[in-house]
Amino acid sequence: MKFDLNRLRELSITEVAIKLGIEVKRKKVLCFMHEENTPSLEFDEKKGMFFCHGCNQGGDVITLVEKYSGSNFLSSCSWLENAFLGGTANIQQFSSPSLKKRVIPKIEIHANSEIYEWLISHATISKSGIDYLKNRGFKESIIEQMQIRDLQHPSIFFEDLRKKWGDDQLLNCGLAKNHDKYGITSIWWDPVILFPFIDPVSRVNYIQARRINNKEPKYLNLIGLIKPTYNLSCLQQMKLGDHLFICEGIPDTLSMIQLGYYCIGVLGASSFDKSLIPALMDFEIIVIPDRDDAGERFFQKLRSEFNSVGKSIAKRQLPNNFKDVNEYLRSNSRN
Ligand SMILES: [Zn+2]
Repeated sequence: MKFDLNRLRELSITEVAIKLGIEVKRKKVLCFMHEENTPSLEFDEKKGMFFCHGCNQGGDVITLVEKYSGSNFLSSCSWLENAFLGGTANIQQFSSPSLKKRVIPKIEIHANSEIYEWLISHATISKSGIDYLKNRGFKESIIEQMQIRDLQHPSIFFEDLRKKWGDDQLLNCGLAKNHDKYGITSIWWDPVILFPFIDPVSRVNYIQARRINNKEPKYLNLIGLIKPTYNLSCLQQMKLGDHLFICEGIPDTLSMIQLGYYCIGVLGASSFDKSLIPALMDFEIIVIPDRDDAGERFFQKLRSEFNSVGKSIAKRQLPNNFKDVNEYLRSNSRN
């Protein structure tokens, strides 16, 4: 068996890759030699070479067939010859290379306080961010205390995040997503206010964003993470028997804090974390649900969770003319 190696090496490496079953849609594709979430396998059509920046493996068309099919040099040459040069009668037919099925790794998403804290410490709050929050009745002192930030150009900020942390880390903590069309992008694309969630040991364990332009959805969550409870760090300052209010969202929770109450935010009845209950047993729990059916269901859900451990909780209704606490705050700050 003799192959014209020069002719084989002149074959288009992209065409060989496609023939092997590798999807070559963009400049870089997911590597078949190592597990990764971000494409780092590149084909150089001019040189007829491939190279992976993730596992530093590469070579020419023949090596590509060897690596992909798991067959030896001669079998790989034979496969190439048959696939592209028509083959000859006296070489053994190399039918279908036993291609390794690429396993698409499932991304495990975890909160990453280090990245969230870096983000919050490098972002600022702009004049328009402050104006937006002031319009909703919030004072600058509360904006500062709760470390609220905004991003007027999230995609520009995202490039800084990428440089510092890399795509995989951002994907793994819910701050980035992988589009088929556009590759890795930020989860925020138009101006947003950022609310960091600070846990009882003063770490940032979540960030919720609110779009300033009021487009739906108004609130943007981190991808793949359960929303934790907002403002849990207030538990540090509380004493036995203190009143702890529970509101349904961030604006209401912030409103209560500004009014001088201890308050935590549970973002939807389904995201109430039962494992919190022991830490809340020492306090008088008062829920302020929104004045609607969903608000009532929210209260019922929380009440049954607390009742199951023998603790009763109270409900405080807002005066008739207010839909939620933030409306109440705004009317108060106007007077
Ligand atoms: Zn690789």
